Amino acid sequence: MLSKEELDSLNKWFEDKEPLEVLKWGIEKFHPKIVLACSLQAEDLVILDMLSKVVEKPKVFIIDTGRLHQESYELIEEINKKYNTDLRIYFPDYKEVEALVNKHGINLFYRSVELRKACCEVRKVLPLRRALEGMQAWITGLRREQNFTRGGIKKIEIDEVNGGIVKLNPLADWTWEQVWEYIKKNNVPYNKLYDKGYKSIGCVPCTRPVKPWEHPRAGRWWWEQNSDKECGLHYRGVK
Ligand code: SF4
Repeated sequence: MLSKEELDSLNKWFEDKEPLEVLKWGIEKFHPKIVLACSLQAEDLVILDMLSKVVEKPKVFIIDTGRLHQESYELIEEINKKYNTDLRIYFPDYKEVEALVNKHGINLFYRSVELRKACCEVRKVLPLRRALEGMQAWITGLRREQNFTRGGIKKIEIDEVNGGIVKLNPLADWTWEQVWEYIKKNNVPYNKLYDKGYKSIGCVPCTRPVKPWEHPRAGRWWWEQNSDKECGLHYRGVK
């Protein structure tokens, strides 16, 4: 879809541009085959707010793993009240979930990194594949400072893991402070778990608040010592 040379020159051009410029480019090129992956984190809401200024009824998807916080469900209701979106919610395949938990237990994720990843695969990654079917591009709220696995992300990537479609990371170079400055200034709805000490939000059993001095993702799968702290939605199969 984009050659290596085109990709390099686009990234060079957009590196010092605002996220809105990246989004405008993505919408012009791919709409209506472009979708925002909203995992109900602060960054996703920033992008949703920006997108709603660029296009009518932006396509958005949320993956409901079945283990989300009540605050996350409340945020979905707030999104529906405030924004005019084409929002789809994707669920895991119940047969896959049943097979996994009946074999390994309802809280299998605490038993090993492999089982935790198997749970993420069934509850998150496989629904993601369905959400991206027919799309030419997807948008994420990834930022370079979030995790050691994300330090090298570019604003525009080719997602080899998901069929070679384009992946836009408009907030790649934003800081945590910039995210919250935008939220406050634009009165963007946000997940109320942030007011309770959470800095990164996932499923209930796998997320906890962090201390002020801890890394923002220290509350994700906190019992794992040497894992990559990723669920698999953003494996680095990108150019
Ligand atoms: Fe399962 Fe935890 Fe991954 Fe959610 S974050 S899908 S509960 S392992």
